[in-house]
Amino acid sequence: MDKSKLQYFKKKLLAEKQSFLDSEKHLEEWGLRDSMEEATGNLTEYDQHIGDSGSEMYERSKDYGFLERIEQEIARINEALEAIETGEYGICANCGQEIGFERLDAIPFTNLCIQCQKEDEQAGNRFPPQNL
Ligand SMILES: [Zn+2]
Repeated sequence: MDKSKLQYFKKKLLAEKQSFLDSEKHLEEWGLRDSMEEATGNLTEYDQHIGDSGSEMYERSKDYGFLERIEQEIARINEALEAIETGEYGICANCGQEIGFERLDAIPFTNLCIQCQKEDEQAGNRFPPQNL
C-alpha cells in the first residue's frame, strides 16, 4: 500500500481511537454519576455511601460491558496502527491477500479480507451475514 494511503488510514484510525477514548471517558463519568445518584438519591450524602445495592451493581455491570467492548475496539485499533508501522497493514491475517480499499475505508481496523470474514462468520456462526 502506498504511503499516502497509509497516512490516510493512520489518520482515520487515530481519529477513531480518540472517539473511543472519549466515549470511554464519558461512560466512566456517567457510571460514576448514576451510581452516586442511585445510591444516595442525594449527591451531598455520597461520602457516606459507597453504594452496594443490587440495582447499582446491575447498572455498573452494564457500564463495564460497554467499557469492555470499547477497550476491545481500542486494542484492535492499536494493532492496526502497529501494522501500519511494520508495513503489514491492509493484508489479510488469514489468507495474506490485500484487503480492498473500500472495506478498509469502512472498517479501518479490520485484519481480514471480505472473503475470510465471510468464511469466519459462517464457520463460527457468530453474526448474521452482512452486506459489506
Ligand atoms: Zn483473507
